[in-house]
Amino acid sequence: MMKKKGHKYIFVVGGVMSGVGKGIATSSIGMILQSKGFNVNLVKIDPYLNVDAGTMNPTEHGEVFVLKSGLETDQDMGNYERFLGKDLGEENYITSGMVYQHVIERERNLGYGGRCVEAIPHIRDEIIRRIEAAAEYNGSEISVIEIGGTIGDFQNALFIEAARVMHMQYPGNVIFIILTYLPIPGKIGEMKTKPTQNAIRALNSYGVQPDIIIARSETSLDKKRKDKIAISCSVRSEDVISAPDIESIYDVPINFEREHLSDIIAMKLDLHKKTKRTNLIQWKHLVTRIQKKKKAVKIAIVGKYFKTGDFTLSDSYLSVIEAIKFSAYKLGVEPDIHWLSSQSFEKKRGLDTLKRYHGIIVPGGFGEKGINGKLAVIEYARKKRIPYFGLCYGMQLMVIEYARNVLGIKHAHTPEVDPKSPDLVINIMEDQKKKLAESKYGGTMRLGLYPAYLKRGTLARRAYGKEIVEERHRHRYEVNPEYVERLSSNGLVFSGVSPDRVLMEIAELPESKHPFFLGTQFHPEFQAKPLNPHPLFTAFMKAAIRRKR
Ligand code: GLN
Repeated sequence: MMKKKGHKYIFVVGGVMSGVGKGIATSSIGMILQSKGFNVNLVKIDPYLNVDAGTMNPTEHGEVFVLKSGLETDQDMGNYERFLGKDLGEENYITSGMVYQHVIERERNLGYGGRCVEAIPHIRDEIIRRIEAAAEYNGSEISVIEIGGTIGDFQNALFIEAARVMHMQYPGNVIFIILTYLPIPGKIGEMKTKPTQNAIRALNSYGVQPDIIIARSETSLDKKRKDKIAISCSVRSEDVISAPDIESIYDVPINFEREHLSDIIAMKLDLHKKTKRTNLIQWKHLVTRIQKKKKAVKIAIVGKYFKTGDFTLSDSYLSVIEAIKFSAYKLGVEPDIHWLSSQSFEKKRGLDTLKRYHGIIVPGGFGEKGINGKLAVIEYARKKRIPYFGLCYGMQLMVIEYARNVLGIKHAHTPEVDPKSPDLVINIMEDQKKKLAESKYGGTMRLGLYPAYLKRGTLARRAYGKEIVEERHRHRYEVNPEYVERLSSNGLVFSGVSPDRVLMEIAELPESKHPFFLGTQFHPEFQAKPLNPHPLFTAFMKAAIRRKR
């Protein structure tokens, strides 16, 4: 099975509990190794049976992140790309659903030659095959593989078993890092190591000994606790990395380096002779910019995927938030982001509260809920000249609003909400009809990277500074070509179009009419990077700053 000689594999697993930042830890490990001059590959394993993340509601599982290939993935893939500053391939994302689907299809095709097909070895070996295929991606030298879930889950056990086998097959080339949590119970007031000890013992029961323990907690770990974990879990005290809570996730790599994590990893994988000195200069500049006190610019995001029980989730729009932040940091302002539920504007009440914001975003979305609220907000932003940025659904609704209130097409709509409308200014894409009729929802939208041509003299063209751009898509509907002529002759500019000029990719109002009123059929947020903010978000933030003044 040994394919890629000398490739290094770092498995990251979680202990104690979920939600303590395994994705950010994995991204940061990748980033610090990359900054030592290695070509690093990050892989996410999601133990769920969904084949991809595309069919999940964002309030269930956070944002659906779209790779350039079009694969719909977990939001961690977005963090990986942002920390590495590069795009990843579909090999870099693995779910139980993909693994089982492949094995079962192969069995149906007699691919196992009449043998009994079982979790061990067949599922395990398919997992290994995929991890090795990912290692081939872009000539990478090191793969950091995050196994989703927590030690002790039924769901991820086969993945840990696959990792154990790889550790055995590739001696010296595989290490394990476990991320645990050390609670400081309020009444006791002392940081407790016992849950971590138990998590390591659970991992040991799989036949796996961690090489490094990353100890998440509210505060830093003292020497005494590092020693205690070291002696009880058979690691060196230096291999227990203190990872206290910090203000910004972008500070995590720098924090890891204070504990010499990349050097420790390099030593363990016998890479230390090949490494360059860690170069985090640009990243440190970024963190300094984040921490500096700055004037706040108020941005409202009007959406619907916020609430789960009593909690407000911003996870559903993670990439949008990050994209706003990167442009804000670049421009030296503090992004002050507010969540507004579109449903609260349904009756066109409370719209004047929008005046206090310097910019408004309507992000991507699906279905009917909250639509009228979003339309009311867009109309208000257009008339009151508040900078407006519509992403995907936010662009489609912007076109509907314009058709209704400027062109007087009263029943203008999208078939997603009102299929019987006589004026479908947004329409279903031709190739989507059949898919929906057959209930083929998974992975069937217009997905991934597509080029767009930008019209000279427009806001979009000025922002990008070039004629052809490529952006990531995720939608079934589009601006109906039959209405383009009428919309354009009434002032709406389609500043970005597909190469065949059939699909409208960007709509905007000229700057003489509105300081910033622009929508994209694609999701620019997926390509915004911390050190390379997205030009459209930057243009939007500039307009918001002007409004503040
Ligand atoms: N629901 C719309 C469509 O499918 C918009 C999708 C989105 O915002 N990502 O076309």
